[in-house]
Amino acid sequence: MKKIFLLLFLMPPIIIADPLDAIRHETCSWHSWSGNECHPQKIFFPESVQEVQNIIRIAVKNTIPVRFIGSGHSLNDLVCTDNGYLVNTDKFNKILKINTKKNTVRVECGIKLKHFYKQLAQHGLALQNQGFIKEQSIAGALATGTHGTGKTGTLSDFIISIELIDSQGKYHVISTKSNPEWLQAARLHLGALGFVYAVTLQCVPLFVLTHKRKMKSWAEVLANFDTYYNNNDYLMMMAHPISENVLVYTWNKTNEAPTNNFFIQLQERLFSNEVTNYLTIKFAKLTPELTNDFINALFKAMQQKEHRELSYKTLSPIKNPLEVQDYIEQEIAIPIEHFVDAIKDVFALYKNYEKKDFELVGFMTCRFVKGSEKALLSPTYGRDSAYISLITLSCFKRYKEFYAEFEQLMSKYGAARSHWGKYNDLTKERVQELYGENLAAFNQVRAQLDPHNVFTNNYITQRLGMI
Ligand SMILES: Cc1cc2nc3c(=O)[nH]c(=O)nc-3n(C[C@H](O)[C@H](O)[C@H](O)COP(=O)(O)OP(=O)(O)OC[C@H]3O[C@@H](n4cnc5c(N)ncnc54)[C@H](O)[C@@H]3O)c2cc1C
Repeated sequence: MKKIFLLLFLMPPIIIADPLDAIRHETCSWHSWSGNECHPQKIFFPESVQEVQNIIRIAVKNTIPVRFIGSGHSLNDLVCTDNGYLVNTDKFNKILKINTKKNTVRVECGIKLKHFYKQLAQHGLALQNQGFIKEQSIAGALATGTHGTGKTGTLSDFIISIELIDSQGKYHVISTKSNPEWLQAARLHLGALGFVYAVTLQCVPLFVLTHKRKMKSWAEVLANFDTYYNNNDYLMMMAHPISENVLVYTWNKTNEAPTNNFFIQLQERLFSNEVTNYLTIKFAKLTPELTNDFINALFKAMQQKEHRELSYKTLSPIKNPLEVQDYIEQEIAIPIEHFVDAIKDVFALYKNYEKKDFELVGFMTCRFVKGSEKALLSPTYGRDSAYISLITLSCFKRYKEFYAEFEQLMSKYGAARSHWGKYNDLTKERVQELYGENLAAFNQVRAQLDPHNVFTNNYITQRLGMI
């Protein structure tokens, strides 16, 4: 007996291994591109679907929230969790199948858009529309309804099917054929339904666009807005808030080959590189009172004469956007027919703040997206929309008050729906007002796919409520 006790005493202690230890992970804080910081329990770097299923299984067992990271380019705390698990998706970065007869592609969730677009082009395909940058992951971009401009929908509208792991670890292929009501929720899901492993998207044959950027007076553009909109396949405006001028971007489809103009390519590189971004931001912070003139001059230098370029290059011209801790942007979608009146209200808003000595820097963009009823929580649900985006730096005080007034003003024109991936101060009550019964329909799907309420965080609870 004595010997047994002695043996037990001398035996090394049995350490019960954490079943998740085998998956590469780190214990550190995380922050988004724009500086939203959080302190997850662990950040995992899984390399297989099975590893993600294990993470979810253990998280559910221990009631630990799980959030997924795309590229961290949402301009708010949408990705964040304190004390939960963060799951990095970078290893899921492959195109799985391309069907050049049907122009469809099946692709893993974590591929960065810049790599995705390039590989699609090598197979003679493109998306009909793109956002202004291409740093995002495909799943992250779809999760928030990322959009560009043009008479097509948001990226979420191009989804044919989604492959998703729910909170019970079950693998679902969600499509119009198998479960259309789930697809309506899963097209724009905010990471609240589960792990999106892959998506199949409708593409179009690779195309060339004639592109032009010209400085015009706001008065002329607003007086002729319908003509601008109707006569161009893609239309966008970028302006300094209190300038009388606006930089008008137009793109039109052409059957001719790209121009390959060396000077335009050089200009594009210069204006979209990190050094210029860095200098602009430094300058804006140091000398806010000079910034208006500076940005006006910058816009003038950004004008481009007509040339032709492949769609995937020209629709997303910004390369390597610098991490900007102070960058802040609110973008609101309103019914397109009210665009001209709404923009006049925005001018009045800026003028008002100017009088209040509000050192507001930044610029605004206007883009136009075709509506659909494909995604329950899409800002373009049920109506063709004008997206008006106001950009500033958060070091400029009172931006919250400014953005609240912006939203209130836009509400005159119908539901003023903020971009989910940008600054917004939405509450569940407000989301209910903006989306009506779509919120309940979304939460019903959420309750089926995540009955454990594990794919949640403060952002989700504040806006969609608990389930
Ligand atoms: C400089 C800049 C320019 C931008 N330009 C545009 C623009 O032109 N148009 C536009 O519409 N938006 C634009 N955005 C916003 C941006 O497109 C969206 O916020 C987009 O969601 C970011 O993609 P991401 O891959 O970084 O996703 P993240 O921000 O990392 O994640 C977004 C959401 O997706 C979830 N998620 C990510 N991967 C998965 C997965 N595999 N499974 C489940 N959930 C997942 C996350 O949990 C989170 O809820 C811009 C943002 C920046 C910083």
